[in-house]
Amino acid sequence: MPVELKNKIYNGVKVCRPGFFKASPHSQSCSKCPPHSYTHEEASTSCVCEKDYFRRESDPPTMACTRPPSAPRNAISNVNETSVFLEWIPPADAGGRKDVSYYIACKKCHSHAGVCDECGGHVRYLPRQIGLKNTSVMMVDLLAHTNYTFEIEAVNGVSDLSPGARQYVSVNVTTNQAAPSPVTNVKKGKIAKNSISLSWQEPDRPNGIILEYEIKYFEKDQETSYTIIKSKETSVTAEGLKPASVYVFQIRARTAAGYGVFSRRFEFETIPVSVAASSDQNQIPIIAVSVTVGVILLAVVFGFLLSGSCCEWGCGRASPLCAVAHPGLMWRCGYSKAKQDPEEEKMHFHNGHIKLPGVRTYIDPHTYEDPNQAVHEFAKEIEASCITIERVIGAGEFGEVCSGRLKLPGKRELPVAIKTLKVGYTEKQRRDFLGEASIMGQFDHPNIIHLEGVVTKSKPVMIVTEYMENGSLDTFLKKNDGQFTVIQLVGMLRGIAAGMKYLSDMGYVHRDLAARNILINSNLVCKVSDFGLSRVLEDDPEAAYTTRGGKIPIRWTAPEAIAFRKFTSASDAWSYGIVMWEVVSYGERPYWEMTNQDVIKAVEEGYRLPSPMDCPAALYQLMLDCWQKDRNSRPKFDEIVNMLDKLIRNPSSLKTLVNASSRVSNLLAEHVSLGSGAYRSVGEWLEAIKMGRYTEIFMENGYSSMDAVAQVTLEDLRRLGVTLVGHQKKIMNSLQEMKVQLVNGMVPL
Ligand code: AMP
Repeated sequence: MPVELKNKIYNGVKVCRPGFFKASPHSQSCSKCPPHSYTHEEASTSCVCEKDYFRRESDPPTMACTRPPSAPRNAISNVNETSVFLEWIPPADAGGRKDVSYYIACKKCHSHAGVCDECGGHVRYLPRQIGLKNTSVMMVDLLAHTNYTFEIEAVNGVSDLSPGARQYVSVNVTTNQAAPSPVTNVKKGKIAKNSISLSWQEPDRPNGIILEYEIKYFEKDQETSYTIIKSKETSVTAEGLKPASVYVFQIRARTAAGYGVFSRRFEFETIPVSVAASSDQNQIPIIAVSVTVGVILLAVVFGFLLSGSCCEWGCGRASPLCAVAHPGLMWRCGYSKAKQDPEEEKMHFHNGHIKLPGVRTYIDPHTYEDPNQAVHEFAKEIEASCITIERVIGAGEFGEVCSGRLKLPGKRELPVAIKTLKVGYTEKQRRDFLGEASIMGQFDHPNIIHLEGVVTKSKPVMIVTEYMENGSLDTFLKKNDGQFTVIQLVGMLRGIAAGMKYLSDMGYVHRDLAARNILINSNLVCKVSDFGLSRVLEDDPEAAYTTRGGKIPIRWTAPEAIAFRKFTSASDAWSYGIVMWEVVSYGERPYWEMTNQDVIKAVEEGYRLPSPMDCPAALYQLMLDCWQKDRNSRPKFDEIVNMLDKLIRNPSSLKTLVNASSRVSNLLAEHVSLGSGAYRSVGEWLEAIKMGRYTEIFMENGYSSMDAVAQVTLEDLRRLGVTLVGHQKKIMNSLQEMKVQLVNGMVPL
């Protein structure tokens, strides 16, 4: 019997009994109270919400009462310098409503007192702080080296009616160091016919102590010939300019974290000779005095430096050192970008250990006569009693790698990794072992493995570094195949690129950049590790001897480095492209089982690795850019970092994936036949890769020969009902591998 018939009828009008209601007296029928509401009265016009349930004014009386959602779940963070990316999954209970959105509360916390303040208005939220519909957000412009707590609160249409506690999940993060923000405010000072004085304000977010400013300028429309002056002050005078000419100026600041980006362009014009002649009249005495004093000062202060190797090359081959030491010389030494090999420039720059305060470059420990001196210059000696070894976590070339704890007097106890030098070592082994510490100790960057110190005064000799909970990146990715969002993968790549930018700014060429040499911690922060000189390549099991006698990890190395040992930051950029490929394919081996010789041949002939499965087109394009044959056309690490930052800020740009059917085209002929391959039938092939369960589906859908199978795309697989990503991957990778081998004349088995 319909429920409403149970309600009484008085004078022909239906009166609703308890548990039922009629919103309008004119309506004919009574309705049962919607879920989570009740009425104990007769003739109710509405139902009352149960305890902890609510109804918005705009909710119709027939709608169930609802409650605030539970807290969001599984929040994860990804820190990049002073940006934090948060991602979470929706609450288990949406409260019965569809209008769930998220609000981000930001608190800045003082680590010592555990006190937190509101973050204030400088933080930017992308896309917004309130009313977030998506389950991710990015906060930018945070302060460097600061502890933040972010509370992600789920709210719905009745949250503000509930007196209950807020439902949120909180995430604690510490931001890293970051380069300074751009200089925005540049003012012209005195302008003469041959000089322009400028002054500017410190960037809004210095993110540390500003060590110096770099002022780049060039005559308008003559950008290829520019001049750089360095200044520790916020003002400078560019001299030796042409009268009545427009000059373009850009300024950037540098802290220990590196250079910030250049400011926008500021244009100023020198005055014509005729005007200058009259105005200069009055100033002759002042200039005469200042020039004389200036010349004497410069001669005294820099005479020593200039008499050394620094300016030996004369004009056109200026070292930036000269620029700092003698700004006046810069114009004549002003170099043409087009003619310069940046690597050579860097060589001169840090030749011979001349270091100016604030100008940090890598110093090759080989240049020390006594290698022990290098270790003690760059690494702190730790007393063995401060170290507790807990367990063995890996094997290095020189001995075991252990995890443990380091407790230095007056400092917090830290988890550390301890590399040991096995007993019975030779003097050369000791030198090579400690060489890594001499290199690592020169670096200070959140994406470079941090050296705590060395133990050399007792045995065993040890190198102590920060501990990276998830170990090396290649193994970690293989273990967690398919487990990360694209943004998380890009976050890892961004970290590696930032570390590499720092190394290339320091003038250090890694030579063995590969996922196995990246370590990853529990926050998924990736850090570049494995530093060495010749040793790097000696202990890498991937390194193979080339015809020229060097040992090189072929699959990761740029062609010019394999062919004539031209290792530069541009060859590191090639290796970075391979690391990108390893990361996006979750630790797949580059070029699969192709032999080193075949890899060299294929790359030389212009073939490149195909896109990994489900790879955003923008990432694959960046990989291809890194694999340009012409090393000068490859992106620089700062460009790579900028590009990845842009993608992280705009995650929708990662949604376009490389078209599954064109994935193979780059390394391979598009329509290669697999008929002459190792497998005689589709069934045999699928059995061999443990996918035999799909044989019938393949056969039924016309993929009955290996030639037909060669054309299968990811979409086809999905259509055939191969929905498990792991299975899709196995099948597509196997196809790809067979094609690679065929194209290179290598028929498997
Ligand atoms: P290596 O000699 O640097 O190649 O180190 C050998 C192995 O030890 C690596 O593959 C890692 O698994 C592990 N390892 C080295 N350094 C660390 C570290 N700082 N934190 C955690 N694991 C490490």
